[in-house]
Amino acid sequence: MEISSYPVGMSSDTPSLVTILVAAGRGTRAGGGVPKQWQLLAGQRVADWAIAAFQPFGEVVVVLHRDDMDIDLPAGVHRVPGGETREHSVKAGLTRAWALGATYVLIHDIARPCISPTVIAGVRDALLAGAEAAAPGLPVTDALWRADGARVTGTQDRAGLVRAQTPQGFALGPIAAAHDGFAGDAADDVEVARAAGLDVHITPGDADNIKITHPGDFARAEAILNRRRDCMDIRMGNGYDVHAFCEGDQVTICGVSVPHDKGLLGHSDADVGMHAITDAIYGALAEGDIGRHFPPSDPQWKGAASHIFLDHAVQLAATKGYKVSNIDCTLICERPKIGPHASDMQGALAAITGLDTNRISVKATTSEKLGFTGRGEGIAAIATALLVTA
Ligand code: MG
Repeated sequence: MEISSYPVGMSSDTPSLVTILVAAGRGTRAGGGVPKQWQLLAGQRVADWAIAAFQPFGEVVVVLHRDDMDIDLPAGVHRVPGGETREHSVKAGLTRAWALGATYVLIHDIARPCISPTVIAGVRDALLAGAEAAAPGLPVTDALWRADGARVTGTQDRAGLVRAQTPQGFALGPIAAAHDGFAGDAADDVEVARAAGLDVHITPGDADNIKITHPGDFARAEAILNRRRDCMDIRMGNGYDVHAFCEGDQVTICGVSVPHDKGLLGHSDADVGMHAITDAIYGALAEGDIGRHFPPSDPQWKGAASHIFLDHAVQLAATKGYKVSNIDCTLICERPKIGPHASDMQGALAAITGLDTNRISVKATTSEKLGFTGRGEGIAAIATALLVTA
């Protein structure tokens, strides 16, 4: 499978990825009176940053301390009671991931709120490419000493040393078996995987993916998150599509069935407006077009409803750290009249993209009876999408 075409949470034969965030610890070293994952950081709780980072990649399971089971969590997040030790808590998360039908799991320290989509995608892509285990790491750049208290007793060669980060990703079956067979306290899940003989692939880490451990780490994390907010990236894409009329009694445009004395000819449901919008989003991501992600030569997409394509484009944007800010679509045809259906179309597009209807524009023009649209041979659509850093 081509990684870039990984269809996020779509067809039943798609390998599914579940993230387990272990939040059952009490984390008292960070100070502040409540466990660090529930403390505020740049406007929301540490846990909320981590949850939001992983939600675009699939289902998220949060393993909670028993005293926290009623805590507020974002919509759609699965909550599981943890155990006495981290080991028990991870097992509880793996059990829930199994019940959710996961093929792969990502296990992440909830106290790493600055995790970027690039690091997550690196681990995911290694798993999809066949690794049974993968985790981000960073080379050690500082010189290393051995010490006895405040006295240097020697130096340590840093060659071959790597700083371990999370998320650590695994094929679910092997890591579940590895945890079942593991006794003792592991530093992380890579240690458990290695003990069971799994081969662990190292993917690129990120110096900003810090773990909040001490009180001063909150200020560092806040600075990283604020800097990201200040470095807003804006991307724009355009899309253009044409479908010819054929025999029929309705056309589907922007997700709405419009009665007409003709139909639209096409490989899928021929939703010319939704195709142009979807291509605009792919365009903003420099990710080609619908044909690249859903090849017309592949019979599984024959007659596919176009909302699958649009949903994929929006999810792909999310896994790259972007959200759609607004969409503008112009339909070009003499008939049918679009105006009476425009607000239904905005509503249909809003339901798929999660945008407010006031961020979606659907309008129409004729071409003054000129050209193929003027002669009533088909409908054309152009669309623009603006993406901003999520
Ligand atoms: Mg098309």
